[in-house]
Amino acid sequence: MKKVAFYTLGCKLNYSETSTISRMFEAKGYEKVEFEQHPDIFIINTCSVTDNADKKCKKIVKEAKKISPNSYVTIIGCYAQLKPREIAEIEGVDAVLGAAEKFRLIELLDGFTKEQETKVLASEIQHANTFNNAYSINDRTRTFLKVQDGCNYGCAFCTIPLARGKSRSDSMENIVRSAREIAETEVKEVVLTGVNIGDYGIQEGRRKEKFSDLVMALDQVEGIDRFRISSIEPNLLTNEIIEFVSTSKRFVPHFHIPLQSGSNTILRSMGRRYLRELYEDRVNKIKNLMPHCCIGADVIVGFPGETDELFLETYNFLNELDISYLHVFTYSERANTRAVEMEGAVPMKKRNERSKMLRILSEKKRRKFYQENLGKTFTVLFEEDIENGQMHGFTENYIRVAAKYDPLLINELKTVSLSEINEKGAVEVVEPEFVYEKH
Ligand code: SF4
Repeated sequence: MKKVAFYTLGCKLNYSETSTISRMFEAKGYEKVEFEQHPDIFIINTCSVTDNADKKCKKIVKEAKKISPNSYVTIIGCYAQLKPREIAEIEGVDAVLGAAEKFRLIELLDGFTKEQETKVLASEIQHANTFNNAYSINDRTRTFLKVQDGCNYGCAFCTIPLARGKSRSDSMENIVRSAREIAETEVKEVVLTGVNIGDYGIQEGRRKEKFSDLVMALDQVEGIDRFRISSIEPNLLTNEIIEFVSTSKRFVPHFHIPLQSGSNTILRSMGRRYLRELYEDRVNKIKNLMPHCCIGADVIVGFPGETDELFLETYNFLNELDISYLHVFTYSERANTRAVEMEGAVPMKKRNERSKMLRILSEKKRRKFYQENLGKTFTVLFEEDIENGQMHGFTENYIRVAAKYDPLLINELKTVSLSEINEKGAVEVVEPEFVYEKH
């Protein structure tokens, strides 16, 4: 029996896909092992958004060859689609598979027999037009369920459409079936995952279903305690979705809404499909209906043309906005995007300073959000995340809780009341002795 190990870089979508591919291997009789357990085959699922994707890929291949010198090394994922020839040059790589090929790798690489030449099977991205469903089962608590892939938006800084192709989705029927399968396991929380999930519903190039209908259909699936919407574009987050989530027992009050910039000048030049007024309107709508809702935002600093004044517009906008945390990205040039051709490159030092300012702002926002929720009662889903005698979990509105380790609490939902923040930024809760701390 051949042993296979996996390594995943990047987003939730990559994790869900690695997990599904690993189940395909197991179904064919391969044994799935850890990276360091001397596998015969390594599958490395790469990301193009990660900085230094090439260096990371090389490093993982090198480690793999150290562990099993005669192993068969296969590279898949966004970086493999974008730069297959470059990857084929890396010493130790046996095969590179693109987006249209990766789900067929067992059949395409037939027995994983080493050959003189590196195999490169990566068709042009327009051939990646089928939808392969996927969900992760990495731990018992949470699963990432892929509902959509690809993107038709073409933002100026983004390589994802080049790496993952056009927007396409699974049918509602299939997704509900997968959710029912997941409900048969011990998993308590399902995170809906995709590249642009608000654009859910395109099948074979035609819009057939709507994301709001999917949300409503999943809400009926018995046996799953929580659904979380991972990230949704502000222009696709409709009142219908917000209103539904506000009354749902299963969809949790947490939205992650990419903003990218708080300056309309920069939003236009990025090719985003909304202005800051729309974003603000979405946040207000959510907060009016669900004052305890957690809202996260992605922001890119140092996009070409972002002057000090325009950055300040973003800073002030975010400072005023009732959101709970930020994911800050420092802009970096990516080949084959419109942004690399743009004038007004921001010096790296400035990009880093801006990034630091927003990270500090994010911490302030998070603390304020925690404070606002003191004295309230929430449900925590405890995970197998144990450190120094403490275990961790998240409330429905994404507050991270730490409590004294108790094996009986793993993968259990517990109602707690958050009582006070201690001097380390942690909050103690009533009954049992829970502590809630920032992350
Ligand atoms: S919406 Fe824009 S940033 Fe998001 S995946 Fe599509 S092109 Fe990239």
